[in-house]
Amino acid sequence: MFLERGWDVVSEPPWDLGILFSCSVTAVAERKSRALLRRFLRQSPGCRRILCSCYAQNLLRHKKPFPEADLVVGNRIKYRIPQLAEALFRGEPLEQYQELEGTPQTWNSWDDLKLFRLLWHTRGFVKIQDGCDHFCSYCIISHLRGKPVSRPEEAILEEVCRLTAGGCGEIVLTGIHLGRYGGTGNGEPLGRLVQKISRIAGVRRIRFGSLEPFSITPAFLTMLRDTPQFCPHFHIPLQSGNDEVLRRMKRGYTVREFANILSLIRNIFGEHVHVSTDLLVGFPGEDSQAFEGTLKVVEEMNFGKLHVFPFSPREGTPAFSWPRPSRQEAEERARRGVALGEILLARYASRWLGQTVEILVEKTESSEEPYFQGHTPHFLLARFPGRAFSGEERRGRVAALAGGELLCTPLSEKDNLPEDDRGGVS
Ligand code: SF4
Repeated sequence: MFLERGWDVVSEPPWDLGILFSCSVTAVAERKSRALLRRFLRQSPGCRRILCSCYAQNLLRHKKPFPEADLVVGNRIKYRIPQLAEALFRGEPLEQYQELEGTPQTWNSWDDLKLFRLLWHTRGFVKIQDGCDHFCSYCIISHLRGKPVSRPEEAILEEVCRLTAGGCGEIVLTGIHLGRYGGTGNGEPLGRLVQKISRIAGVRRIRFGSLEPFSITPAFLTMLRDTPQFCPHFHIPLQSGNDEVLRRMKRGYTVREFANILSLIRNIFGEHVHVSTDLLVGFPGEDSQAFEGTLKVVEEMNFGKLHVFPFSPREGTPAFSWPRPSRQEAEERARRGVALGEILLARYASRWLGQTVEILVEKTESSEEPYFQGHTPHFLLARFPGRAFSGEERRGRVAALAGGELLCTPLSEKDNLPEDDRGGVS
């Protein structure tokens, strides 16, 4: 949007304006946001700074002086940032805190941000949904993002057309509670959207960001499976493998119900589908027995990638004041969760040893021995020797593993041609 208004967008200092899209999911995320805003100024003395997204929305609850930013812009009005920035540079008097009228629970509007083209990424992250009304007992996000809203379909399809016309091969659909896209909560509107996107010329891959388990149905999964460009990877947050902890978290499923969802996915997509997850450890009520049980469940569920977070109490949520394991215990549990995650990812990756995989090149590292890398459809990072342009499709044979990373030997140039041009080579 800034490019459309004649600005230059740069990734290296010096810059006149730094904009930080922030997160408020943990206290650490907020601390990192403040550090980054200070870094903007150190790297470009005199620059202006704008903070937006969830941490900004959280600050809006108290509106205390916030010296790290010139403007603090709340959720659902990020589309106004270019105009606000220009007003700032013209020296117009502006309130430091900028927010949408009403409260997050009364908002119905879509934040009309648009992605015109990719500057530094190969994958196009297309936001299609915002807000959540699930109110898990630990989560501040449903308080800051407001009620679920969906982006108009026409705007999504337009954005995908624009991105693919500019060479973007992979579309990643994102949202706070993606399964609520279309309002029904049963995933089917999302499935139909994926089908429509797949019919746009140039779309080579479609995948999801995180998908909550509540909206996964057989009909939805079947629609995805029958869409050739849909990548067989699901990131579905489990959070805990203990029923009592899940009940306190207000997640709305039991371990058995979650396991049934995994079976459904594996039945429909086949056993090699990659399912990754999030774990929240050190939650109030998680004793050591519950934690050990969670590790066992996670191992049995055969996840690939694991993201592990120690519980961070967020003011304004029910779990904020509940008695909980100590910080040290939570951090120790997180370390053990991360260690298990490395084992699981390596175990999952080992299924690809000796197999042929395909990547969309994301970047080339120009070290002494240059290599390029990208993700496979199953969302494993694969590395090839040599150089390649971002966005190219490359195939290779997995010759070795480095933890969860695939080290590949390139196939011949002929094998890198699209299917139709390979002169009968299968
Ligand atoms: S479903 Fe996700 S975004 Fe919604 S309240 Fe729970 S953790 Fe937060």
